[in-house]
Amino acid sequence: MDTIRADFPILHQKVYDKPYVYLDNGATTQKPKVVIEAVKNFYEQTNSNIHRGVHLLSEKSTEQYEQARSMVAEFIHANSTNEIIFTKGTTDSINLVAFSFGEKYIVANDEIIVSEMEHHSNIVPWQMLCERKQAKLKVLPFDDNGELCIEKLDELITKRTKLIAVTHVSNSLGTVNPIAEIVKIAHAKGVKVLVDGAQAIQHTAIDVQALDCDFYVFSGHKIYAETGIGVLYGKEKLLNEMPPYQGGGDMIKEVTFEKTTYSDLPLKFEAGTNNYVAAISLGEAINYVQAIGIETIAAHENKLVQYASHKLGTIDGLRIYGTATNKVSVISFLVDNIHHYDMGMMLDKMGIAVRTGSHCTQPVMAHFDITGTVRASFAFYNTKEEIDRLYDGIIRIKKIFA
Ligand code: PLP
Repeated sequence: MDTIRADFPILHQKVYDKPYVYLDNGATTQKPKVVIEAVKNFYEQTNSNIHRGVHLLSEKSTEQYEQARSMVAEFIHANSTNEIIFTKGTTDSINLVAFSFGEKYIVANDEIIVSEMEHHSNIVPWQMLCERKQAKLKVLPFDDNGELCIEKLDELITKRTKLIAVTHVSNSLGTVNPIAEIVKIAHAKGVKVLVDGAQAIQHTAIDVQALDCDFYVFSGHKIYAETGIGVLYGKEKLLNEMPPYQGGGDMIKEVTFEKTTYSDLPLKFEAGTNNYVAAISLGEAINYVQAIGIETIAAHENKLVQYASHKLGTIDGLRIYGTATNKVSVISFLVDNIHHYDMGMMLDKMGIAVRTGSHCTQPVMAHFDITGTVRASFAFYNTKEEIDRLYDGIIRIKKIFA
């Protein structure tokens, strides 16, 4: 653990003169030295725009960018690099599909299903599509443990259902959803499935072919890479059928004022100068994760979640939201009638960073009739001692409020 923590410079500082405890990994993860140095080295030695120049550094930049694409493809077991589109992040990937898939396949009175536990970025783009096309958004509910009511899926799907958009792991409850089962039910009725992997990619091994999902999306910054890069995986046949999302450089074959022809995959969906440096940092981050092993990471994080659930669960008046059998990385809670913002601000003064509020999942808060929670979310560099610090902090705050 000491070696791993040594890889993350930001963890070794004091805030308010206290050793820093970072438990907001669901929002973004910290970056290991190898990623930070790769970015610095790239700017110092290689930087040139990709897919444009014939000069040496441009070719090297392009090579590293495409290498990062291959690494992503391998990491999630895609069939081909044509299925890996670099975007700005999860939100951008979902908007791309909502626009492009929507343009091609959605007509008035069609239906799209999202789950009740989606992040706003997997709700709003579909709502906007439904408004544009006069289609209908339907909702798959979850129960009070935070588990999806899969048994309701059959009756929700009708002949008009075109797509189900569902999160792999809930960012506010930690629930791991049974994606393979959902895909099976959907595909039996000819319905496509988009999986939001923003909170799964850093915690579990992903095999898009085994899941058989049609789209899988995630953000680089949640898996130890820079901000500004994301991935859209899509089955090649579908991506080929879908129209471009944005027009511009890189996504064209030939432009005349009469007619423009588009690039083949994956560039068809990558208009303009993409954040190639962040893509390269993603390749570096994947390398780093693979060197440690995603199974090793998952095992450690699972121990942390179990330890935290048990330890925080002993605090009188503490209520945990999200008690699914299969959950990872997240403990959402409230204590007595202490407001989540008060709890978050007081923990902050003790050097402990947690997230407070609705976590961009207002419908989840509405389900429990609350305005927000305090969320501690873990990465593999977190320790039991940090959870003990959180526990001690909560006990102190309880006493102050009492
Ligand atoms: N989906 C889930 C489940 C998330 O947790 C997040 C971010 O927290 C997003 C989507 C949006 O990710 P981004 O802001 O990187 O686009």
